[in-house]
Amino acid sequence: MPDIPTVTLPSGISVPALGLGTWKMGESPNDAKAEIESLRRGLDLGMTLIDTAEMYGEGASEELTGKAIEGRRDEVFLVSKVYPWNASRRGVIEACEASLERLKTDRLDLYLLHWRGEHPLEETVAGFEELRRDGKIGAWGVSNFDIADMEELMAVPDGRNCATNQVLYNLSRRGIEYDLLPWCQEHEIPVMAYSPIEQGRILRNAELIRIAKAYQATPAQVALAFLLERDKVIAIPKSSTASRVEENAGAADLEISDEDWEALDAAFPPPERKQPLEML
Ligand code: NDP
Repeated sequence: MPDIPTVTLPSGISVPALGLGTWKMGESPNDAKAEIESLRRGLDLGMTLIDTAEMYGEGASEELTGKAIEGRRDEVFLVSKVYPWNASRRGVIEACEASLERLKTDRLDLYLLHWRGEHPLEETVAGFEELRRDGKIGAWGVSNFDIADMEELMAVPDGRNCATNQVLYNLSRRGIEYDLLPWCQEHEIPVMAYSPIEQGRILRNAELIRIAKAYQATPAQVALAFLLERDKVIAIPKSSTASRVEENAGAADLEISDEDWEALDAAFPPPERKQPLEML
C-alpha cells in the first residue's frame, strides 16, 4: 500500500495529495466497466479524492463517478465544478443540485467555480456560502484563477473562505511557481494541480525517462513525485486503466535525490518571470 501524503485544507480536513481525475470518463458505455474499476482501485490505494465537473461529458463523468462510489461515499472526498455561466447566485444552487443527483449523493465535499465568467464573484460566493450553510457542500473553491483573480476574490464578502485553486501545473507548466503558487501557500490555500502528467505528453521526454529508469520507476511516477514534493499541492492524475492508477499511486513511494531534482530543473526550467496562467 503506497504511503500517500496528505494536504490539510483551511477547514482542517486532510485530503490525499494524490487524487483521481475523471475528465473524459463516462463518455462511452464500452469503457464504463474499466473506468469504474480504475476509480475503485484508486480508492483502495488511498487516492480517495475524486475530481469531476458538470462539464465533463455534460454530466456523464458525474454519473460514472456516482456509480464508482456507490456504497463507498464516506471513503471519498468528492470534488465537482460549476460552469461559469451557471455560477449566478441562484444558478449555482441549481447546478449543484443537478450534480448531486447525477452523483447520487446528498453532498459534495468541495465545489469549484470552473473558470471565471460573466457573473460577479460576490454572487457566486454568496451561492456557495448558501450551499455550505445547507450542508450541500463542505467547502468551495475556484479553478483557473491567476493571482489578480485571487486578490479580487479575497476582497469580496466571504471570499477568504476559498478552500483551493485548481490550476494547470506539471513539469512542463511551471509558470505558477513564480508567483501564484507562493501566494496560495502563504494564504494557506492548497493548489490542485490538474493535467499533472500533461495528458501524457511529457512522458516521452528523454531526461524524464532517464531519471525514471535510475529509480526503476516510470516517467509518470517521477512527474507525479515532482508535484508531491511541493507544499500544499494536490495532484489529480486521470487514468481509466486500473494498472496505471496503481502505477500513479506508486509515485508516493519515490525518493528522488537532490541531484536528480536539479537535472529535472535543467530539463524543465522553473519560471524566471511572471507568466500568465495557462489553461487547458
Ligand atoms: P492527466 O495529466 O491526468 O493525463 C491523463 C492522460 O494520461 C490520459 O490519457 C491517461 O490515459 C494517461 N495516463 C494516466 N496515467 C498514465 C500513466 N501512468 N502512464 C501513461 N499514461 C497515463 O490529464 P487530465 O487533463 O485528465 O488532468 C487530470 C484531471 O484534472 C482531469 O481528469 C480533471 O479531473 C482535471 N482537470 C481540470 C481542469 C480544470 O480546468 N479545472 C482542466 C483539465 C483537467 P488512460 O486514461 O487511458 O490511462
